[in-house]
Amino acid sequence: MTSAQRSVHMARIKGANTVPEQVVRKILHGQGYRFRLQWKAAPGRPDVAFPGRRRIIFVNGCFWHQHEGCKIAHIPATRSEFWQAKFDRNRLRDARNLAQAAAEGWHALVVWECETRDIFKLAARLSEFVGPVRLGRS
Ligand SMILES: [Zn+2]
Repeated sequence: MTSAQRSVHMARIKGANTVPEQVVRKILHGQGYRFRLQWKAAPGRPDVAFPGRRRIIFVNGCFWHQHEGCKIAHIPATRSEFWQAKFDRNRLRDARNLAQAAAEGWHALVVWECETRDIFKLAARLSEFVGPVRLGRS
């Protein structure tokens, strides 16, 4: 492995529990929701899933998923071809997962890393997307 490949590999491992994901989970917990993590039964294994509501949430790192027009999403100056190819694959995979999810009747929400900085705004968006809290159910 080259060092760039290694860092991609490491980021993928770390990617299972990133800070933006923790922020989203904390807000949802605080709002009283129950949910599943890394739900395998939905396309793209969404970070947060509400199977009973048919709703899924992807928390995307702005760099890895190349958030359009976002400051965090710059292409590194060195080995830029390697990164471009990597990012293109990520974006293609994201688009495919969202299309597949919609085809299977899932409602999907994408939360970008940079959107987790405004917790109040995010909290409002999350509860609007998920809907009223129901006791004892996801
Ligand atoms: Zn962003």
